[in-house]
Amino acid sequence: MKSISGKDINLGITLAVLFGITIAGGCIKWPLFVFAAIFLFSYIVLDRKKLRCPNCGGFENLDRLMYAKKHVFHCMHCGERINISE
Ligand SMILES: [Zn+2]
Repeated sequence: MKSISGKDINLGITLAVLFGITIAGGCIKWPLFVFAAIFLFSYIVLDRKKLRCPNCGGFENLDRLMYAKKHVFHCMHCGERINISE
């Protein structure tokens, strides 16, 4: 059965947090904006390749995917159940 990897979700969360920190830090030290751009780009690539509904390719945000880890979760686009693997 197709599923989304739990590790990819964790990586996505990590990138989002790092992006938030570097954006905040960039207001004090501007070179951090460069890292923020790298984290944002990495996140977008990860999101496009891994954090999509395995059935229809529909976009799901991180909040919903975190919820899907612990609960039965259905894609809001195609209605198929989304499984999260470890
Ligand atoms: Zn779907």
